[in-house]
Amino acid sequence: MATNRTFTMLKPDAVEKGHIGAILEKINASGFRIVALKLTHMTKADAESFYAIHNERPFFGELVEYMTRGPIVAAILEKENAVADFRTLIGATNPADAAEGTIRKLYAASIGENAVHGSDSDENASIEAEFHFAGREQF
Ligand code: UDP
Ligand code: MG
Repeated sequence: MATNRTFTMLKPDAVEKGHIGAILEKINASGFRIVALKLTHMTKADAESFYAIHNERPFFGELVEYMTRGPIVAAILEKENAVADFRTLIGATNPADAAEGTIRKLYAASIGENAVHGSDSDENASIEAEFHFAGREQF
């Protein structure tokens, strides 16, 4: 995947609360082009695999439970400097620490239920996009 792309998920809490439209609007208004987009539902095995890097952490069980309790919106986004700029747009992992106007400040409830995912590197953006989208879905 090109290095000007990142991967995001609008997590189950954001979908449950009806925030899909508002968050996508903010993403577009911030200069990201939506390259791929779908509503999907992760299985337990999907979430365990997607978040495997955290499998020794105390919150892992809760994270898998949360990420599988309802549908998510998965998307690939394109913009110059996409990974870093999207992390800035979403704000800190804990919404209490997130800057004003960021997606997590606006829509996240807690450090666990924090509304949105953003890849942390070009390499992970590519791995995560491949996890959720077939090649023919990534234009
Ligand atoms: N998480 C959690 N408790 C923590 C840290 C993280 O429940 O103390 C969850 C949260 O949903 C977070 C995800 O695990 O988004 C992945 O954690 P990471 O440190 O990678 O944060 P992110 O990259 O999402 O900001
Ligand atoms: Mg992370």
